[in-house]
This record gives sequence, structure tokens and C-alpha cells, in this order.
Amino acid sequence: MIQWELDFERCLRSKGIDCRNCVWSCPTNVLGIKANKVTFGKEEDCILCTSCVGNCLVDDSVVKVWDDENPLLTKPPSILKKLAEFK
Ligand code: SF4
Ligand code: SF4
Repeated sequence: MIQWELDFERCLRSKGIDCRNCVWSCPTNVLGIKANKVTFGKEEDCILCTSCVGNCLVDDSVVKVWDDENPLLTKPPSILKKLAEFK
């Protein structure tokens, strides 16, 4: 099951900035904005590309996305670590 989380306190939108970089970066339009917060739509539409994570303008990313049923597709730092191990 794909899980998606956003730490709103660190998101630029919580500081009055109209950032939507993660929303724009999503190739399947899963992300939107409602009541000033970034929202995650249907899990089945997310392809786990991690574009939203990579395009977050905050250092270390405010966004996390992972598949809790697939150990290779875990939170972003682990994904990068796993990919590095496959080289
Ligand atoms: S992982 Fe990709 S498809 Fe899923 S919400 Fe993020 S940008 Fe969209
Ligand atoms: S890119 Fe990052 S800071 Fe900007 S709206 Fe998305 S989560 Fe918030």
C-alpha cells in the first residue's frame, strides 16, 4: 500500500508562500491543494516516482512517499540507498 506524508509545519505553504512545486511535478496529478494544504488523491494513481519528494523546495523534503508492502520501495533515503546497492 502506498503511503504519502507531508510535514505541513515545514511546508512553505504553512509560512504564507504559495509553493506548489510538488503538485506541478506529479506526472499523474495525484496531488492537489485544498484549504491551503497539499493533498494526496487516490493511492492507485500514484506511480511512486518520487518526483514530489525530489522537487520539494525544502531541504531534505517535506514530502515522503513509500510502499509499505515492498521493502525496496521505502522512504526516499532508503530508496536511494537500495538503488546504490544494485549498481
Ligand atoms: S510519487 Fe510521483 S505519482 Fe506519486 S504523488 Fe509523488 S509525484 Fe505523484
Ligand atoms: S514543494 Fe514542498 S514546500 Fe512546496 S508545497 Fe510542496 S511540500 Fe510544500
